[in-house]
Amino acid sequence: MPNIIKPKPEWLRKKINYSVNQELESLFRDAQVKTVCQEAMCPNISECFSQKQATFLILGNICTRACSFCAVGKGKPMALDLNEPQNVAQTVKQLGLRHVVITSSTRDDLGDGGAEHFCKTVDAIKATDSSIVVELLIPDMRENKDALQLIAMSGAQIIGHNLETVPRLYHVRKGAEYQRSLRVLKMLSSLNPSIATKSGIMLGFGEKDEEVKALMQDLLDVGCKYLSIGQYLSPSIHHTSVVEFVKPERFEDLKNLGMEMGFSYIKSSPYTRSSYMANEYLEQR
Ligand code: SF4
Repeated sequence: MPNIIKPKPEWLRKKINYSVNQELESLFRDAQVKTVCQEAMCPNISECFSQKQATFLILGNICTRACSFCAVGKGKPMALDLNEPQNVAQTVKQLGLRHVVITSSTRDDLGDGGAEHFCKTVDAIKATDSSIVVELLIPDMRENKDALQLIAMSGAQIIGHNLETVPRLYHVRKGAEYQRSLRVLKMLSSLNPSIATKSGIMLGFGEKDEEVKALMQDLLDVGCKYLSIGQYLSPSIHHTSVVEFVKPERFEDLKNLGMEMGFSYIKSSPYTRSSYMANEYLEQR
C-alpha cells in the first residue's frame, strides 16, 4: 500500500540550487561517473556540490537488494564498467578533492561483492596523488572474508558500513542482518587495525532512544568509533513511511550521549548523511 508523504516540518525545508547542480552534473555525465548524491536524491546536494564535495557510486546504479527506504534502482545489475576506476580518479583530480567517499549499491551477483573494483578505484585515485584521503562505504559483501580482506587492505583510511536502523526495525533492510553488519565492522578492524571504521543510522522509522543507545554500544563493542545520524526521508509513496520527523534537539542529545559513551566523532543532525562533511571525522581522531 502506498505510504502517505507527510509535509516536512520547518527545520527540514531546504532550498536546492539547481544551477550549481547542473555544472557538476554535466561534469559527471561527461566523465561517465555516477554519484549517490544524484541517485539517492540527497537533500544536501546543493550544499555539497557548491563545495565540490560528492560521493561516487561505483559498480552501477542498480542494486541486487530491495531496501524499502532506498531510492537507488533495484533489479538486474549491469556489467562492470572497467574504465570506471580511471574515470572516478580523473574526476577527483579535476575537482581537486582532498577527501573522497566511494560507495556502491549491493552487488550480491558478484563473487567478491565488488571488492576488487573498489580496490582498483582506490589505486587509481592514489596514483594521481597518494595524499588524497579515501573513504569507502561498503555493503556487507555477505561477510565474505576474502572480499573484506581486500577492502581492509585497499589503502582507504576510513571504511564505513551502515547499520541504518535498530535491530527491531530491520525489516526495512531487505536481505541484511543486524548481527552480520556488526561482524563485518569487527572483521574490518581486525583485518587492518590502522583503518578507522564508521557506521551510519537514520532516525524516523519509529526507533526508541534506548534502542539507539544499545546500537551505539554494539558499535563501540566492535571497535567502530565514527557514527553519522540523520533523518530518514521517504523517497516516494512506494517507499517506507516516515514515522517521525525527529527534532534537532534529539539529534544533539544522541550525539552527546554517544560521545560520552566513547565515540571519537559523531555527526548528528536532521540533514546528516553517511558522507556528509566526511572530511571532519579524521580530524577528530
Ligand atoms: S551528503 Fe553525501 S550523498 Fe549527500 S550530497 Fe553530500 S556528498 Fe552527496
